[in-house]
Amino acid sequence: MKRLIVLGGGESGVGTAILAKKMGYEVFVSDFGAIKENYKEVLSINDIKWEDNQHTEALILNADLVMKSPGIPDKASIVKKLMEKKVPVISEIEFAAPFTDATLIGITGSNGKTTTTMLTYHLLKSAGLNVGLGGNIGKSFAWQVAENNFDVYVLELSSFQLDGSFTFKPHISVLTNLSPDHLDRYDYQYENYINSKFRITQNQTEQDYFIYDADDTAIENWLKNNTIKAQKVPFSLNKTIENGASIQDKTMKINISDNEFTMDTTHLALEGKHNLKNAMAAASVAQLMKIRKQTIRESLSNFQGVEHRLEKVLKIQNVQYINDSKATNVNATFFALDSVTTPTVWIVGGVDKGNDYQELMELVNEKVKAIICLGIDNKKIIDAFGSIVDMMVEVSSMTDAVKTAQRIAEKGDTVLLSPACASFDLFENYEDRGRQFKQAVQNL
Ligand code: ADP
Repeated sequence: MKRLIVLGGGESGVGTAILAKKMGYEVFVSDFGAIKENYKEVLSINDIKWEDNQHTEALILNADLVMKSPGIPDKASIVKKLMEKKVPVISEIEFAAPFTDATLIGITGSNGKTTTTMLTYHLLKSAGLNVGLGGNIGKSFAWQVAENNFDVYVLELSSFQLDGSFTFKPHISVLTNLSPDHLDRYDYQYENYINSKFRITQNQTEQDYFIYDADDTAIENWLKNNTIKAQKVPFSLNKTIENGASIQDKTMKINISDNEFTMDTTHLALEGKHNLKNAMAAASVAQLMKIRKQTIRESLSNFQGVEHRLEKVLKIQNVQYINDSKATNVNATFFALDSVTTPTVWIVGGVDKGNDYQELMELVNEKVKAIICLGIDNKKIIDAFGSIVDMMVEVSSMTDAVKTAQRIAEKGDTVLLSPACASFDLFENYEDRGRQFKQAVQNL
């Protein structure tokens, strides 16, 4: 019997353990932190051995195979030891994919993964396909492979999941865009991170498809210097695209194998240029999956959006409050500022992951009337924008941020929370930050 060690007892770890047990592996789950009570129960009910708050080497280093959860870095000492012993260390998707013959759609990118994944899922589900949603979102993919019988999976994939994938082959892959992120896990080399994202294409064949942003220079450069076998389906906001998706005079056009889909972009549910890109990506998938054009149009116009991503909260005294708490980097905030059309009070700040604010200057100059700095250390933001924005206020709680914003905003303005930074100086995570914002707005 093969011995599988699962490192990390969270959603992907427990899901993998359940699938592996079902497939006849001897399974042991080890977590260096605490495993949640509900997961412990699931493991015990399934007769799977586990430990938490430790890694017992004697029980781990004898593995035939290791599934490492995405949160654990390669430089963790237990991982290094396994690698020295040449034990294969793989990701959840790599482990689970061979046990399903469902069509796999993998979506990755620096920004827009969740939105594009949810939108794609919505399109396929509305068309009546028997489709599952997994990867970084919701229920673990491996767990669903063990317990469900979906014909298609839409998977949101982080670079960490792709790093542990060697044979994984999606029929359709999507790369939404590239901008530097998580570089601490890539030896501070952007190139390594880019290569990691492109692993999504590494096993694709001529029968498969690769959908990508043709306006993204990092993607275009990589494609110039490397070859992939999958058929390329580019999307672009400003180029003419023969085989792929583009925008011409407010009409989205997708041409794949001489089959043309068109839609009036003013009917799209999600606003902003970045969402136009996400919509082109999702509609390209739907078209490749042969979904009826009318269904694609309807689904793109009735999609509800995803919480904390340019989410419209309330309009109070004709001031629109928008929660974009998920914007944890400059690129995401760029598109948020780009999408607002009124004078804006901008709430920004938190833990800076090495931000360069230069690319926001023009938009800030044009649209932002006041900046509310919501972080423990706001120096970089003040240095960057102090000379172009008249009003800069520092606060240290969400309630103060929202109250101050209300005081400054006038009829017709927008109050935008789009922090461009991680949240853990003042909040538990970006969801907590977004929820506190919405609560504070509701309390006004
Ligand atoms: P991810 O899952 O990759 O983090 P999300 O869909 O959760 O992506 O969006 C994260 C942030 O990026 C949000 O602030 C959102 O408004 C913004 N965003 C969404 N799509 C794009 C895109 N295509 N390009 C840039 N920013 C985007």
